[in-house]
Amino acid sequence: MERIYLDKNEIPKQWYNIMADLPEPMVPPISPATGQPATFEEMQAIFPPALIEQEMSTQRWFDIPEEVMDILSIWRPSPLMRATRLEKLLGTPAKIYFKYEGVSPAGSHKTNTAVPQAYYNLKHGIKKLSTETGAGQWGSALSYACAQFEMECRVFMVKVSYHQKPYRKSFMKMFGAEVIPSPSELTNAGRAMLAKNPDSNGSLGLAISEAVEEAASRADTNYALGSVLNHVCLHQTVIGLEAKKQLEKVNEYPDVVYASCGGGSNFAGIAFPFVQDKINGKDIEAIAVEPSSCPTLTKGQFAYDYGDVAKLTPIMKMYTLGHDFEPPAIHSGGLRYHGDSPIVSHLYKHGLVGAQSVPQLDVFKYGTMFAKEEGIIPAPESAHAVAAVVHEALRCKEAGEEKTILFCLSGHGHFDMTSYESYMEGKLEDYEYPEAAIKDSLERLPEVK
Ligand SMILES: *Cc1c(COP(=O)(O)O)cnc(C)c1O
Repeated sequence: MERIYLDKNEIPKQWYNIMADLPEPMVPPISPATGQPATFEEMQAIFPPALIEQEMSTQRWFDIPEEVMDILSIWRPSPLMRATRLEKLLGTPAKIYFKYEGVSPAGSHKTNTAVPQAYYNLKHGIKKLSTETGAGQWGSALSYACAQFEMECRVFMVKVSYHQKPYRKSFMKMFGAEVIPSPSELTNAGRAMLAKNPDSNGSLGLAISEAVEEAASRADTNYALGSVLNHVCLHQTVIGLEAKKQLEKVNEYPDVVYASCGGGSNFAGIAFPFVQDKINGKDIEAIAVEPSSCPTLTKGQFAYDYGDVAKLTPIMKMYTLGHDFEPPAIHSGGLRYHGDSPIVSHLYKHGLVGAQSVPQLDVFKYGTMFAKEEGIIPAPESAHAVAAVVHEALRCKEAGEEKTILFCLSGHGHFDMTSYESYMEGKLEDYEYPEAAIKDSLERLPEVK
């Protein structure tokens, strides 16, 4: 294995905003209350001004505040590595580089945005953040970030994961967060769901409703989202900007970039600095990898949809499977969101990025292979990218093609051993594409004029 490091002073000092370079402008998010484009004032109910500005801006570069940099530099720059042992095992002429984000305190890329989000809220006088977490990674990242700024944190955790992943819960509590299984009795959205179905396992869309409701109803509390939104994609671009510098050090430039895609933020993070080059004429591909059981980009519809079950969030134009679509209980909990980042969706619609879906058994098969060769157990989410990369590397072998591949290993899987255990016991299967459920859910998209 080859490792390429950067010095502390080579961490990018600015985030890259791809909205400055889009060949076609994006359409605005719509307020569910007025049916008109959501305004700055409306968003202030749950977000601080600095983040709303980043959300709406077409300014190309944003300075990373010093206080944020101080914390990011605890684990950044993250290493770029070449998976030479995996290459050899596959017998591929392709070169496989990966950017490893599992070195962060929460074990995934999500800490990159949790820290600036907590910081901008603190600066605005906010004392508490409320959020949701599906598999627990985002809740962990935000708990850590809030602890750095001595802020309170309340996490609504999808009930099924709350019981399945007890150590994620302990992680959040260690950093001082309050963790509540969702649906809960604390919010209207939670109570409504429990009245309908007392045994509900919860879903990400519902946990978002609970967290947003809590933030909107309290002046000292704001809401934080771990993916999807423009400012989240912005904060994650440190990944791709660092990777570019690291590849330059070994005179490389990728032919293709892969990342797993749930809400789209780690894909945005590694890919957008390269997509900027593509917009400027460079020959490069960026491919988002999603589970075949929750195939938002590859099988969804590009339409306005709600971000949550209770329809509290702005209506965004994105690839969606319908806001009340509940994907099968696949193990990569972090890739189960019904929608996708509006920017990633826009780029996909305009052919500037590609997408692929991979079945679950390949994900665990190649995740295990990667762990054995490279000594890092990938999070099941990250293993989606690994599976797509192995498929491509094997294709390169067939074709005798010497490609340079870059992918984002978005996190480690140390909290996900139950899923690997199920795989090893032969209990996992490939789910069929849930066509009927998606079709049904897509019938309830909002009408936007
Ligand atoms: C959350 C998560 C993802 C998927 O989220 P995106 O918003 O698509 O980045 C991927 N990998 C890991 C390790 C995660 O925690």
